[in-house]
Parts: sequence; C-alpha cells; structure tokens
Amino acid sequence: MIKKDLPKNIKPESLMMSYGYQSEWSEGAVKCPIFQTSTFAFKSAEDGKAFFEVAYGLREKKPDENLGLIYSRLNNPDLEILENRLCLWDKSEACAVFESGMSAIATVLLEYLQPGDLLLYSKPLYGGTDHFINHFLTKYGITVIGIHADHTQEEIIEKIESSGLQDKLGVIYMETPANPTNALMDIAMCRKIADQFSNENHRVQIAVDNTYMGPLWSHPLEHGADIVIYSATKYIGGHSDLIAGAVLGSNEIIGRIKGLRTFLGNMTGPWTGWLLMRSLETLKARMEIQMNNAVKVADFLINHDKVEKVFYLGFIPEGTSQYEIYKKQYSSAGAMLSFDVVGGEAEAFKVLNNLKLIQLAVSLGGTESLAEHPYTMTHADVPVDQKQAMGITEKMIRLSVGVENADDIIWDLEQALSKI
Ligand SMILES: *Cc1c(COP(=O)(O)O)cnc(C)c1O
Repeated sequence: MIKKDLPKNIKPESLMMSYGYQSEWSEGAVKCPIFQTSTFAFKSAEDGKAFFEVAYGLREKKPDENLGLIYSRLNNPDLEILENRLCLWDKSEACAVFESGMSAIATVLLEYLQPGDLLLYSKPLYGGTDHFINHFLTKYGITVIGIHADHTQEEIIEKIESSGLQDKLGVIYMETPANPTNALMDIAMCRKIADQFSNENHRVQIAVDNTYMGPLWSHPLEHGADIVIYSATKYIGGHSDLIAGAVLGSNEIIGRIKGLRTFLGNMTGPWTGWLLMRSLETLKARMEIQMNNAVKVADFLINHDKVEKVFYLGFIPEGTSQYEIYKKQYSSAGAMLSFDVVGGEAEAFKVLNNLKLIQLAVSLGGTESLAEHPYTMTHADVPVDQKQAMGITEKMIRLSVGVENADDIIWDLEQALSKI
C-alpha cells in the first residue's frame, strides 16, 4: 500500500501506479481490480439513505464524508480512482470521466448554456465539436460566434457587443493549439474578456479542450480557464484502443457536470476506466518519447525540398504574438505537426499512399505514428473559404508522431516523399 506520508512535491508520474487505491480493499492486490458491477450493497439502510442525500444534492456533504458507492452510473471505484489520478496532472480539485471526448464536451456545453445564451468559440475546432455547436446548440436558441487566434481583445469584445447579447455570454470555448494548424489562443486574454462580461451572479465560464498538449505540457487552469476537457481517446489513453473523455475543474463545477452525467448516463464503464489507469502509468514516458521524435521529424521535414511549410510549435518565430503565447502556455512543442507538400491533393495522396510504417488514419496521440489529409478527411465539412483562411489546403498532411524509433519514422517519410 502507498504510504500516506509521501512528501507534497512528489510528481504525478510517481503516483500514477498507486494513488487513490489501497491494496487492503482487494485482498492485497497491488493493482486496482476491475469493479465490473452495476450496483453496490449498502451496509445498512441508514447508509443507503445518507449516500442518496448527498448524491441527489438534498444536503451538503459533511467535510470528512465520502460519497458512498451506489450504482455504477453515479460512481464506481475504477472511475473515482482514475478521476483522482487525472486531477494530479492539472492540479485540479475534481474530475469527471466520460465515455467519449464528445460526450464530455456536449455535457459541459449543455450544463453551462441555456436557450437565449451566447457562446463564443475558437476556430478551427474539432469537427465533432464544431458540428455540435453549429448544428445542435443553435437549434436550441443558442447564438454562436466564432473567433480566430489572430483576433485582438478589442475585436472580440466588439463582436460580443455587436451581437446585442453581452449580458447573455455563457461560455467561451476554445481549442488550443488548433487542429491541424497549431494556431494558439491566449487563455489569459479570454479570461479578461470573460471577466468583463461576468458579474456577482453570473460567471462567464472558460472551457479549454486541452487534448493536443495535455495533460503534460499545458495546464489551462493556471492561465484562467475554469474547465479543462480531454478526449482521453488520444494521449491519455495513448494506445488507440479505447474511446473516453474527461472534464476537470473546481468541486463546484465538477459537481454540476457529474449531476448532468448521472442523468445522461454517459460515464465511462469500469473496463475503460481500468484501461485508462493502466495508460496513465506510462503517460509521461510515452509523451516524452513522442515529443523528442517530433523534434527530429520536424527538422527533417523543414529541410526537405518536397516540403513547402511545416506547422509545428517549435518553429514559431520569436518576437511574434504567437511566440509569446507559446512561451507562456506550453512547456513543449508537443508531438502533433502538419506539413504542406510541394503540389496539391495528388502529391499529398501519393505520400500518404506510399507510407509503409506510418499508418493512414485519423485520430492522434497513440503509440503508433498516424498520418491523414485534413482537407478531405478530418476537416472535410469545413466550408472551403474557411479552410483556405485557416491555411488548411489540399497539400497539407497531418502527422501524429508515435513512439517508434525516430530514424524509422524519418526513413518512411523520406521514401514516401521521394515518390512525388
Ligand atoms: C478526438 C477529439 C475530440 C473528440 O473526442 P472523442 O473521444 O473522439 O469523442 C475532441 N477534441 C479534440 C481536440 C479531439 O482531438
């Protein structure tokens, strides 16, 4: 069993194997078992009553009281221990895990918006999120306004005010770095805007989808975000073998999010929760290998004569405002990059079709390197003029760098590029 008197400054990666679990709960098992059960027996009727009072918010939890196990839609040890471990990376008070990144995102937006509200969101967004915002939320009377990484604070404020809904701003939602261009949003600037439209009774919430860089290299809560969201399908899961999501924030926020999760029933199951705990043990090791590989791959690409441009955080020119945001918000350039080949769709497809080690697939953050064509795949339904404005062109290839040997990834890219 992990001893309770560990020093405070112990790092998350040192705790991922044991935190929040006690082997005495399970016959001395060193690893947390899979609690594959739908329901939990109460020791007494009084316990059952007390657990429900807290779960349904009929009374406040006493300071030292834990929410007892009731039913796996509300709570389950595999979910709770996973949530406690995820909190460590972002130094968050609380966490709620979901059966997908999309269900995490949808639950946050449904909980914090109501008909008549205004939602501000950064562009480009993950395709599913963009669709949910523009085709679902708008049906329910929510007005949505897109903003870009290059909009200034004044321009954004002007957009809010000219909508006539400045009293109704509910959420500023953003994805940074943006997929697939790696454009960066300034979270602290958005906090200032949110505060300007908040008052004692109403706080404008800032929600950041941190899937691309978290939870290792970016911690949005430190920069003024209220809510951090992950598709745990990506780096957190890290093996391209599950779908899951997570939301982090204060006890108050996660209390509300878990309330809606209970009624939508979109929590993860115990098996996925257990797989994610296993993934978390190697999160830092995996992501560091991927990051180091990406440095070498980016260097190779930028010097290749069939490559026109590389979209990689490590290449943002010093002295630009994007560079300032990069230095402030991120501790690494990450392992996601895109590049433009010389030519167009035909040349990009030629490279993709000739890759031998790197697989042609969407998704990202897994142990294997993946390549795809944003223009016709992940961003196929973004209108052409918007794609052009954001720099998503037919010649662009997106690469999620894996844990293979960097020389082998580079060999594969080199032989595929030579086919152009
Ligand atoms: C994949 C992804 C999502 C959606 O997550 P799912 O787990 O597939 O539901 C949301 N945001 C970003 C940035 C993603 O990459």
